[in-house]
Amino acid sequence: MIENPVPWPNGAKCAVAITFDIDTDSLLHLEYGDRVPDMVCTNSWLRYDEIAVPRILKMFRDYGLKQTFFYPSWCMETYPELVEMILKDGHEIGHHGHLHENYTQLTKEDQLYWTEHAIDIIQRMTGQRPRGFRAPVYNFSRHTADILAQQGFVYDSSLMADDVPYTIQTDSGSFLELPSHWALDDWPAYVHNIELEYTMPIRSPDEAMNVYLAEFEAAYQYGGLWVAIWHPWVSGRTARCMRIAQMIEYMQSKGDVWFATLEEIAAHIAKCQNDGSYVPRRVKLPYYTSAISKRERPRQIR
Ligand SMILES: [Zn+2]
Repeated sequence: MIENPVPWPNGAKCAVAITFDIDTDSLLHLEYGDRVPDMVCTNSWLRYDEIAVPRILKMFRDYGLKQTFFYPSWCMETYPELVEMILKDGHEIGHHGHLHENYTQLTKEDQLYWTEHAIDIIQRMTGQRPRGFRAPVYNFSRHTADILAQQGFVYDSSLMADDVPYTIQTDSGSFLELPSHWALDDWPAYVHNIELEYTMPIRSPDEAMNVYLAEFEAAYQYGGLWVAIWHPWVSGRTARCMRIAQMIEYMQSKGDVWFATLEEIAAHIAKCQNDGSYVPRRVKLPYYTSAISKRERPRQIR
C-alpha cells in the first residue's frame, strides 16, 4: 500500500504524533470582531482550553509522552500560564499564525509580516524559534511554502499529499512536510455550534475513535505516519479524553509504535536522508501560480 515506508527508530512499525492546536478564542476575534463581547457562550466553550490543557498535559505525563502543540501567538500572549505549563513538561510549541488568520486571504507581504510577528513572540516566550508550522484551518496559499522556506522552518504539518513525510521544494529552499488528513482532525466528529453556523451531528467518542484507529491500523501495517490534529476545547472534554487515554494504552501495548514530537520525527527523517536509508518524495510548490487558461475551463451556468 505504501511504496516507500519510513525506517522508523528501533524497528517501530509507525510513528504517532498526537498534536493539539491551542486556538482558544483567536478565531472568534478574527471572524467576528466587534460582536465578540456579546458571544459569551461561544467564548466560554473556547475557553474550555483552560480546563482541557492541564488535563491533556497530565495524561501525557501519565503515559510518558512528549508531544507538539501548535499555537497562534496571540493566544500565547493572552494565556501565558498555559504556555508555561506546556514548556515545563518539555513539549514542543509550533507556529499556528498570530490570530488564526487565513493565509489564503492575506497578501504575500501580510503573510510574511504576520509569520515573522508570530516567530518573534514564540522566540521570546519559548527561548527558541519555532521549527514547525501548521496553517490555521489548513489554509495554505501559493506563497506560504516559499515564506516557510525563507524563514528556515524545518517542517510543515498542514498538507495531505502522502501517507509518509515528503520534501517540499520551493524557489527559496526546501523543508519537510509531515502530512495528516481531515480524518484525523477532531472538528468533523465533534464540533457543533449554531453561533458559528457549524451544525453537524456530534459523534460519540467510540465513533470518532473508529475513524482515527482505522487510520492508525493502516499506518501500523504499512509503515506510515499518524498525526492527530486535535483541539483541547474539543477533544479535551472528559468523555473524549477518557477515550484518548484508552487509545494511547492500546497503541503502547503493541510495543512497536514510536510516539514522538513532530520535531523529533523531522529530525529522524533528516538523519535517514543523511545516511541514505530513506529518500522522501519531492513535491514542488506552489502547484499553480495562476488560474489555468480560460480556454480550458468550460463555462458553467450558475
Ligand atoms: Zn487552529
